[in-house]
Amino acid sequence: MYDSIVIGSGAAGSTVARKLAEAGKKVLILEKRSHVGGNCYDAPDEFGILIHEYGPHIFHTNEEDVYEFLSEFTEWYLFGHEVVANVHGELIPVPFNLNTLHKVYDKEKADKLEKLLIEEYGEGSRVPIMKLRENQNPEIKAIADYVYENIFLQYTMKQWGQTPEEIDPAVTGRVPVLISYDNRYFQDKYQGMPKDGYTPMFEKMLNHPKITVELSVDCKSRLEFGEEQVLFDGVPFDGDVIYTGALDELFDCEFGRLPYRSLDFKFEHFKQDSYQGRSVVNYTVSEAFTRITEFKYLTGQIDTNGTTIVKEYSFAYTGAEGETPYYAIINDENQTLYEKYAERIKKIKNVYLLGRLAEYKYYNIDAIVKKALELSEDIIRR
Ligand SMILES: Cc1cc2nc3c(=O)[nH]c(=O)nc-3n(C[C@H](O)[C@H](O)[C@H](O)COP(=O)(O)OP(=O)(O)OC[C@H]3O[C@@H](n4cnc5c(N)ncnc54)[C@H](O)[C@@H]3O)c2cc1C
Repeated sequence: MYDSIVIGSGAAGSTVARKLAEAGKKVLILEKRSHVGGNCYDAPDEFGILIHEYGPHIFHTNEEDVYEFLSEFTEWYLFGHEVVANVHGELIPVPFNLNTLHKVYDKEKADKLEKLLIEEYGEGSRVPIMKLRENQNPEIKAIADYVYENIFLQYTMKQWGQTPEEIDPAVTGRVPVLISYDNRYFQDKYQGMPKDGYTPMFEKMLNHPKITVELSVDCKSRLEFGEEQVLFDGVPFDGDVIYTGALDELFDCEFGRLPYRSLDFKFEHFKQDSYQGRSVVNYTVSEAFTRITEFKYLTGQIDTNGTTIVKEYSFAYTGAEGETPYYAIINDENQTLYEKYAERIKKIKNVYLLGRLAEYKYYNIDAIVKKALELSEDIIRR
């Protein structure tokens, strides 16, 4: 009946399904949620405002092939995404850049520091704070300390539930300071939103005569992953099986649960034109939530009546009903556990693991679409 079975209809599963179908394969998608699009899913709320149910997603990429592929299924609302941090009531642009410098310090000091930074690192450069902290000049080191304490530390502790000592210095080290007046959060060439939303984009991608989508179906009700083969409805299946769900949950966590951070999204609607006048404010030194997103500024629905926001509260995923695993917690111990599951499934030659859950790593949308395009080519070539 089917040449390929894809589990999950997120960015990973939808892209693979489309490419395999275009190559002539008959594809079945099994999706346990009641909708396609995975975590990129968006839909109007009861007030008619387009919201992102699993957290705000801003598409950004420098990958021409990814942009071209997705553009077959959508037009774009492109903009330069900007974020500010609320630091003791003052809103400052992040990542920290020369505009931030001038907000934080008085003019004379900011002018002096700007000159120093440009002389030291060059205009337009991107300097990790770890590197700034190593600078012998105490004034430059003070900027790094400011960024670490006011933008990075508490935000990261909230997000990952870790103490400063537990936070890997490699993570700290990556927080950049931009020696430029570019306020954009990402520096990618393309950034914005599918014009009508992510869900219509994925629906169009999956609208192909060779693709069948079955929603609200947990793959475990149709597929059995034995030692060396997959059974589909009780019969051996030799076609391609592309799995994009959580690997531990596929095997009922038999070696133990892979740790994730989850998020609780609290949506609120206000009968006023604007709540914060911008799309995203990060709360880096106060509040229990990490950020507030106001959707109308993210999706360009500026003229809608009323406004909907979401606050994000981070917590440790337990696997309880209704929780979603969002961010893999990557460290040596968890990686070793992941490898155990990966070894278990490797013996089944026609199964491919793809995506943020199945590979237990963080991918941006463009990175997973790129990976899915590459995997599809590999499968088709075989
Ligand atoms: C809060 C948050 C914000 C983000 N913001 C951005 C952003 O701004 N920009 C960006 O580029 N990226 C962002 N990302 C990353 C983005 O969400 C991922 O790149 C993308 O969702 C990965 O797609 P995926 O297909 O791998 O996973 P998913 O989207 O999670 O899709 C996996 C699908 O598999 C299904 N599934 C799982 N198990 C089973 C099963 N047993 N049977 C059937 N179906 C199953 C799930 O229901 C799901 O639909 C963000 C991530 C998070 C967590």
